[in-house]
Order: sequence, then structure tokens, then C-alpha cells
Amino acid sequence: MKIIKDKNTLHKEILKNNGISFIPTMGGLHKGHVSLIKHSKKSKLKILVSIFINPKQFNKKSDFMSYPRNTKKDIKLLKKLKINYLYMPSFKDIYGFKPKNKIFLDNASKKLCGKFRKGHFEGVLNVVNRFIEIIKPKYIYLGKKDYQQLYLIKKHIEKKKIKSKIIECKTIRENNGVACSSRNLNLDKNQMKIASNIFFYLSNLKKKIKKNYNLLNINKIKKELINLGADKIDYLENYNIKSFKKVKKSNEKFNIFFAYYIKNTRLIDNI
Ligand code: AMP
Repeated sequence: MKIIKDKNTLHKEILKNNGISFIPTMGGLHKGHVSLIKHSKKSKLKILVSIFINPKQFNKKSDFMSYPRNTKKDIKLLKKLKINYLYMPSFKDIYGFKPKNKIFLDNASKKLCGKFRKGHFEGVLNVVNRFIEIIKPKYIYLGKKDYQQLYLIKKHIEKKKIKSKIIECKTIRENNGVACSSRNLNLDKNQMKIASNIFFYLSNLKKKIKKNYNLLNINKIKKELINLGADKIDYLENYNIKSFKKVKKSNEKFNIFFAYYIKNTRLIDNI
């Protein structure tokens, strides 16, 4: 595995390859990231993982500062997984040039996380757009755990006629049901138990709602989440997973999308 810190070196390395499979991350690697990497191996192309904690997608400085960082452990894991390149750029390497494409921000960016984290998706699209221009990957592997992000990146790629193909990967969970997330590192045992209880409550509820849509009572569900130990709920909504719009008819294919806090840790998931 070659560790590369600037795009000039990266270009010299990757130009000789016949296409790249790219997995963007912010580090704090876990089983979710590992599954994207394992998925990418099927492409038979060289695999490039990036670790870059993008300050522009954090709407609070304190959230950026407390984001888990564990570079040594991440490098060890990536070596074990035998990826080809680890790209760890500086802020200047990513933001010190003018990209050819402007970002396209679909209207869906105003919902859910977009409502509660002002500027978040502009920041995500900005960095992804730059990574795409630097790496020109054939495939990009993204997790459904961050479904709204995945949806918006796909819309940007479609609109800008970018050649990279998005490969959607399923959400990987801990044995207790909680979606793997770098932010879980900030949870203690008791808080993890709360997150687990919330997961089981919502996944059982979804099964019931699928059979009888009248059982859906958003306010009641939010109250139950607070009873289970959530400290604050940003949103909890039923969305059609194709149109990414609020569900209107009971026969639509939907997921429950939710974001909530346990103390200062914000968790998002969709079930
Ligand atoms: P992050 O490091 O949190 O920015 O995530 C990097 C990529 O990993 C994104 O495409 C995420 O959607 C994906 N990812 C994060 N957590 C999971 C998970 N539990 N299962 C599958 N993919 C995930």
C-alpha cells in the first residue's frame, strides 16, 4: 500500500492504471468501511481509499474537533486489507484549485440532514466533486447508511454527466443492530445500549407499519425515542427510497430516516 499526500504524486501513480476503484472516507475506519473495500475488490481494479476529514461539511467547529481520529489504526487496517493507495491530502491539496465542474445540489438537499446541518451537503458535494476531478475513478463505493448523501452524489454525477459509476453498498451493523459509524467511538456502553434499543424499536415498528400503515404516528414514535434515552431528535420521517420524497401511499417502498442525539453525539440511520 502506498501512502500519498498530494495530488501530483497521486497522478504520477494512478495514471499508469487502467481505472481506479475509489472509497472516500473520513477515517475512524470500521466494519462499514471494510465492507465497501471488500466490495471494491470485485472490480479487479486498483483500490484507492482516501482519508480526509472535510472541515467544510461540518456546521459546528466543535463537531469537527470531536470527530474521531485514529490514523495509525486506520493505516494498519488498510495495509491488512491490501488496498493499493491511501490518499491523505492536506486541506490545500483539495481546496487549492478551481474545479472544472460546479456542484449540482438537488432540491433533496434541503430536507432531513440538510435542514438541520446548514451547508453540510454543499460541503460534501464540494469535496466529492474535487476528489472526482483529481482521481477520475471508474467506480465510487458509497454506503446506504448515508442515504441522502448517496442520493445527492448520484444526482450530481448524473447532472454533470460524470463518467464515474456509483456502487451502492448496504448498511453494516454491529451485533446489537446499531449501524457502524465512526461516531460510535464517542459512545460509552450505556449510550450504545440506548442506540441499540432505538434500532430494535424502529425496526420492529417498521415491520408493523408495512402491514398496517395507520400505525405510523410520527409524534408518538419521537416520544418513544426520548423515553428510550435519546436526548434530542432532529428528524424522523418516512421517505420513499426511490423518489426520496415523503411517503403518501401505504404501498410505497419506504424507509424510516432518523437523526438524533445521545448527549453530544449525533447519530443518523435509515431502516
Ligand atoms: P464516512 O467515513 O463516515 O464519511 O463514510 C465513508 C463511506 O462509508 C460513506 O460512503 C458511508 O456511507 C460509508 N459508511 C459509513 N458507515 C457505514 C455502514 N455502517 N455501512 C455501510 N457503509 C457505511
